[in-house]
Amino acid sequence: MSAARPSRAHVSRKVRKKSGRGRDGSLSSGSQNKMSFGSQVDRYHRTSFPLVMDLSSEDEMQDSEGMMDTSEPLENLPFQQLPELCKIKIWSFLHQNDLGRCMLVCTDWRRLLEKPQFWSSVRFSSLSSSCLPQDRIGPVHTDPVCHHCFRKRVFSFSQFLARIHPVVKEFQFCLDLSHPTDQFNAVVEQFLETANLNSLTHAEMNWKESPSRAPLDQESVQDYMYRYRRRQRMFSRIFDTFVTLSPQISTLVMPFDWTDKNIKNLCRLTGLEKLVLEKYGIFNHIFTQDHLTMLMKNLVNLKKLLLEVWIPANNNRGMEVYSIESPSLTFLDISQCKGFYIKKLNTPNLLNLRIARHPWRKMLLQTQSPVLPCVCQVLLDGAPKLQEVNGFHLERNSLIHPNDELSTLMNTICCCLRHKTVSSIEMYGM
Ligand SMILES: [Zn+2]
Ligand SMILES: [Zn+2]
Repeated sequence: MSAARPSRAHVSRKVRKKSGRGRDGSLSSGSQNKMSFGSQVDRYHRTSFPLVMDLSSEDEMQDSEGMMDTSEPLENLPFQQLPELCKIKIWSFLHQNDLGRCMLVCTDWRRLLEKPQFWSSVRFSSLSSSCLPQDRIGPVHTDPVCHHCFRKRVFSFSQFLARIHPVVKEFQFCLDLSHPTDQFNAVVEQFLETANLNSLTHAEMNWKESPSRAPLDQESVQDYMYRYRRRQRMFSRIFDTFVTLSPQISTLVMPFDWTDKNIKNLCRLTGLEKLVLEKYGIFNHIFTQDHLTMLMKNLVNLKKLLLEVWIPANNNRGMEVYSIESPSLTFLDISQCKGFYIKKLNTPNLLNLRIARHPWRKMLLQTQSPVLPCVCQVLLDGAPKLQEVNGFHLERNSLIHPNDELSTLMNTICCCLRHKTVSSIEMYGM
């Protein structure tokens, strides 16, 4: 075995040639010109890996090209000479942006890091939105947060991903799909078409805004509405593809517009365990009890639900009433809803509830609001295992005989005549 291995001198020459380093580990002047981040490269050079010293077999010390040189003291083992498997294991702990930096080190690292399994976590929002010093010229790159540079990175990252076909387990983006010049919809579409999403479990898709882009000034109402609807159409198409390609998805976070087509698609994701549906805008499609029922009926594995819907109320109550029925739900957050009131729960396994009272202003103008059911009673009837409401820990019989703290909490969240009246008396001294 040892006879087949190259001599030490040969190995050292070969390694130095491949890595572009001098014998002392410093970068040669040629490569230093190309790489302006010498200090970062040095981090990886003279690192010791004590664990490797325990290996007894020489074979295990060799990398795929048989380039391992064991005659050097192992305390000074350069990263470059580690076996490929070790490098891959170490790199697997790195974040997407650090992997990208590692790819700039040398062609060998680049070749290894282009393996699809490294890119199992794709987060477009983690790309930097600041300019490189050499870019800070001209009128485009003036703000500390530069949308121009961010967009450029999004597109080149997207091209890279399209080339390597990553096997993605989680992905995230926060990109406005509708902006006329950004064309982020093309980025997302390309990603869905080229990535392997069979084992995708976690997705955060904010399709309504790009934080690096300043809001459009003086946009007319017609233009705003045009983009609002265009964005919905684009999302609808993308969501259709997403649902078809991601059978394993268990966590989904996104703004949602409650169109019939999107609800039907959402209902196909029966493996969902955690779902966050933020509001898309104030011009939502009408959110009905049927939508909610259909969703809860189909998502049989759903454990955590955060719902943010703003419902324009067309009644005297300032609120629409809804029922939620789900045997699997353990966590429910409806505290961000507006105009939404829970009239009935059938959630035998619910442990944690977050709830708030956000009626529309109309309710305040109404002198005689119709009676809404008491939240205490709704919880007693429909959530027997409930342990926590808005962080308040429920003891046995808490809801039947509420103490002062729980009563105060109910005064702020319940719209029944008793609690609402008590809170008005406290607030206005009536
Ligand atoms: Zn810039
Ligand atoms: Zn009440």
